[in-house]
Amino acid sequence: MKTQKAFEQNFSFEFFPPKTEKGIENLRNTREVLGKLNPKYFSVTFGAGGSTQEGTYETVVAIKQAGFDAAPHLSCIGSSKESISDLLNRYIEADIKHIVALRGDMPSGMREAGEFRYANELVEFIRSETGDHFHIEVAAYPEFHPQANSAHVDLDHFAQKVRAGADSAITQYFYNPDAYYRFVDDCEKRGVNIPIVPGIMPITNYTQLARFSDACGSEIPRWIRSRLQAYGDDVDSIKAFGMDVVTDLCERLLAAGSPGLHFYSMNQIEPTLTLWNRLNLSK
Ligand code: FAD
Repeated sequence: MKTQKAFEQNFSFEFFPPKTEKGIENLRNTREVLGKLNPKYFSVTFGAGGSTQEGTYETVVAIKQAGFDAAPHLSCIGSSKESISDLLNRYIEADIKHIVALRGDMPSGMREAGEFRYANELVEFIRSETGDHFHIEVAAYPEFHPQANSAHVDLDHFAQKVRAGADSAITQYFYNPDAYYRFVDDCEKRGVNIPIVPGIMPITNYTQLARFSDACGSEIPRWIRSRLQAYGDDVDSIKAFGMDVVTDLCERLLAAGSPGLHFYSMNQIEPTLTLWNRLNLSK
C-alpha cells in the first residue's frame, strides 16, 4: 500500500441514468443533497447495447450544468471506432474531462465484439484520438474478474490497461479489505503507480446483493451471508447490520491509506449519506 498512501483521498458517487420522469426528479434531488458533500465527481454508468447510452450523456450533461464534475462510463464491446469517436467528441463539446473506460459485457443475442475486444484497447484509442484531454479511470478487480483465466493474468491485464494510459482506477466492490491490500501490493510489484480507489457497495437488500455478487465475482464472506440470511424479511435489521459492516470496511480502508472511496449510490441519498456521516467525512 506504499504508493497509495502518497495520493490525495478523493470521494466520488456513482449514478445510473434514470429512465422515467420520476427517476429524473429523484436523481436531481439526490445530486443536490450529495453535491453538498463536495465530491470530486459524480460518475454515470453506461448500458451495453444502446438502451441507456443516450441517458448517460443526458445525465452527465445535467450534472455538469448543475456545476459539478461528471464522469461518464463508456463501454466499448460491440461498438465501432467511429461511434466511440463521435461520443468522445460530444463529451469534449460538453466540456467533460473525465471518463471511466470499460470493456463492458456482450448483451445477450449480440455476437460480434465490434472493433474493441478489451478495455486496454479503448484506453489506447481514447489517448490516440483525444491526447490528454480526458482523465481516464479504469475498472480494477481485487477479487478478480469472473472471466479471468488466472488471478496473475488478470493482474497483468490490469497493468496493461494502466500502461495504455489510465490515470486512476475504481474497484469492483468487495467486503474483504485484505483482497484490496494484496491487489494493490501486487500492482505495485508490477510497476503500477496510480490511485486505485475502492468501490463501496452499501448493503440494503440481501437477495439483490447475492444475485449481483454471484454475477460479478464479488464475494460476500460467509459470516456476512449467514447473518443477512438469518434476518429473512426483516429489512431494518439487514440495513442496520449492513451499515455496520460497510462503515467498518470503509474505516479500515481509509486508515490503511486508500486514496478515497467511490460510493455505488444506486441513485439513493440513503445509505450513502448515513455512511458519509458515520465516517465523519465532512470534517
Ligand atoms: P477488461 O479490463 O477488458 O477485462 C475483461 C476481462 O478480459 C478480464 O477477465 C481480463 O483479465 C481479460 N482481459 C483484459 N485484457 C485482455 C487482453 N489484452 N487479452 C486477453 N484478456 C484480457 N459495465 C457496464 O456495462 N457499464 C458500466 O457503466 C460499468 N461500470 C463499471 C464500473 C466499475 C468501477 C466496474 C468495476 C465495473 C463496471 N462495469 C460496467 C462492469 C464491466 O463492464 C464488466 O466487469 C466487464 O466484464 C469488464 O470490463 P473491464 O473494463 O474491466 O474489462
